[in-house]
Amino acid sequence: MTSTDVRSLPSRPLHVAVLGATGAVGQELLTLLQERAFPVGQLTLLASPRSAGQTLEWNGQVLTIQPVSAEAFAGVDVVLASAGGSVSKQWAPVAAAAGAVVIDNSSAFRMDAGVPLVVPEVNPHEAFRHQGVIANPNCTTILMTLALAPLAARRAMRRVVVSTYQSASGAGARAMEELSELSRTVLDGGTPMSSVLPYSLAFNLFLHNSPLQDNGYCEEELKMVNETRKIMGLPDLRISATCVRVPVLRAHSEAINIEFCEPFPVEEARTLLKDAPGVELIEDFSSNRFPMPTDVTGRDPVAVGRIRQDLSEPNALEVWLCGDQIRKGAALNAIQIAELLLDPAAAAAAAQATAGASA
Ligand code: NAP
Repeated sequence: MTSTDVRSLPSRPLHVAVLGATGAVGQELLTLLQERAFPVGQLTLLASPRSAGQTLEWNGQVLTIQPVSAEAFAGVDVVLASAGGSVSKQWAPVAAAAGAVVIDNSSAFRMDAGVPLVVPEVNPHEAFRHQGVIANPNCTTILMTLALAPLAARRAMRRVVVSTYQSASGAGARAMEELSELSRTVLDGGTPMSSVLPYSLAFNLFLHNSPLQDNGYCEEELKMVNETRKIMGLPDLRISATCVRVPVLRAHSEAINIEFCEPFPVEEARTLLKDAPGVELIEDFSSNRFPMPTDVTGRDPVAVGRIRQDLSEPNALEVWLCGDQIRKGAALNAIQIAELLLDPAAAAAAAQATAGASA
């Protein structure tokens, strides 16, 4: 590959495989492939042996779910993978070796040096440097980078401190069902007993249940730290996160404190965010109306608001945001990456950027 080579997808109807088609993200991928009229010539649905043989309707066709196998990837152009890290680790290399581009929603390859970690609005050129696998970032990280990137492009960013309010859907389809069921149990006067999440989320919240690390942070928090640095190309950005699961069915929220190297006028930040791709401003101070998960559920944009000067630090801003993490935080971002690889103008810009960087 020369320095200006970019790896696009062929411009013809594509053979697409959705790995994890029965899951929360897989279902959203299927909805979006149809909604966005992605050029699907053939669709292969893959899931675990538990679902193999079941049928799903997509775009007027009844399709049978298949178990994953090497043969299933023959002739596939794009694999949209959302079946968890261990499944991706096993099958993404097999699919890539068979000639497919794998866009992977799991964390299996995100921090690998040779694997692009892409948010199309933030670092689109990276997508074209893939070697068969492109990683879709962590959901809370995707949402946050949409707000950070336009601000970082204007003034040097020094430090980010974020607290998240993450919905049940972040833990998959079964966690959503559990929250609904256990909420009914509580309302009926019963004792909620969880089996999907470690504790009942009904009328409750708890710190994110991903594995704790030696430094006291959980894995989800460190994903936000490391992936944000990689996506934004800011390896030294100081960043700290606290991730919390809250009893919301779908869509995550985040309170972000962003410190710059100099003061950032609030009005300027507001204008930048209002005009930023993938971002919507919901902000009415007169009626105390700011983004809520219900504003973004089932929708594409990340809603930001309550942008204000940090009272304790003249160089810092406070920003609140909500985003549908199954959509922009997972399925939509993955499909946007595939769309990017089909866009000749994006490929030309990536080639130019690569040539410029190596000149
Ligand atoms: P989910 O609702 O639990 O769905 C998991 C999917 O993986 C199902 O289709 C399941 O098939 C399939 N699967 C499980 N084991 C398999 C195996 N051994 N072989 C083949 N398929 C298998 O989970 P999800 O929330 O959609 O998450 C899927 C992935 O996306 C995870 O890596 C997750 O971290 C990531 N992600 C999720 C979100 C989110 O907001 N939920 C956001 C970003 C990234 P069966 O139905 O047959 O079991």
